[in-house]
Amino acid sequence: MFQRILSILFLCFLALTCQITSHNVKPFLAEKTLEQIPLSPQPKVWVDFQVVKVADWETTLAGLLDLDDPKAKAAGLKDRKEPISIYFYLVKHPKYGSFMIDSGVGESFAKGQSGELISSLVESQMHLSHMKVFETTKAYLTKNKIDLKGVFFTHLHLDHTLGAYEIERSVPFYVGPREVTSKHFINLFVQGSTNRLLGENPNLIQLDFGTNQSQITALDFFGDESFYILSVPGHTVGSLAFFIPSKEGAHLILGDTCHTRWGWNEGVTPGSFTSDHKLNRKSLDFLKGLEKTHKLKYVYPGHQERISVLGK
Ligand SMILES: [Zn+2]
Repeated sequence: MFQRILSILFLCFLALTCQITSHNVKPFLAEKTLEQIPLSPQPKVWVDFQVVKVADWETTLAGLLDLDDPKAKAAGLKDRKEPISIYFYLVKHPKYGSFMIDSGVGESFAKGQSGELISSLVESQMHLSHMKVFETTKAYLTKNKIDLKGVFFTHLHLDHTLGAYEIERSVPFYVGPREVTSKHFINLFVQGSTNRLLGENPNLIQLDFGTNQSQITALDFFGDESFYILSVPGHTVGSLAFFIPSKEGAHLILGDTCHTRWGWNEGVTPGSFTSDHKLNRKSLDFLKGLEKTHKLKYVYPGHQERISVLGK
């Protein structure tokens, strides 16, 4: 009996001390964070921006959308399989070089060998073997002669880290505030898979947006108004979104603060895939607000095709 209590206590301890990855992480203190993005950013240079669809997949609508939201109920939405895609984004800065947002998908997944990286328990929930892969990360970077200078992760859920192990070890992997250092029970089951996906000795760097963490803050990463990182906690504690000015209006990358086109158009938050619904609501409202205050060109939901905003 005593032993049983001890083992339960030990499991509780493990759960409480479980980060999403046990890899080392270094802090990155942003010099200048902003309470808001300038209404009309005047970048000294423009970055080149591209979205790359790497895989088609499907998952449960109840994970992607809060089906208890009055709008979802009014639309008669019920849980079902929903088609989704996996994307990464490429940002080319004329001075600082090429960066990815999220890491795409590695070759093991195209070859149906996900078992090398993903535990069977995780696979039984995610069904990664059902993914149809179009592009794999290393092959894409080689084919396009991209000398990668960094990867920004919208967050560290497994479907955003599937290509990280194929990336050169010295390349910085930037993640949002507390994305690595916060502890959750669920990590007990995913930590091993996340560790393997990030690969050996990743150069993990956790962005810090300063002391006022109750506010949504922006970081002018290159310091020239060409690329803004937004801290949008909720889906995960360190979720990030991106605001990238272009001559015809900005690209707004939502990450999984909003997975779907319908969710964005109706302002409905994700369902069971989100960890803090209240904070996710606040972050989504903030991003929706940018549609009114800023000139946007396209909005990119985490797992569905971009939405054209111009002329709306
Ligand atoms: Zn996702």
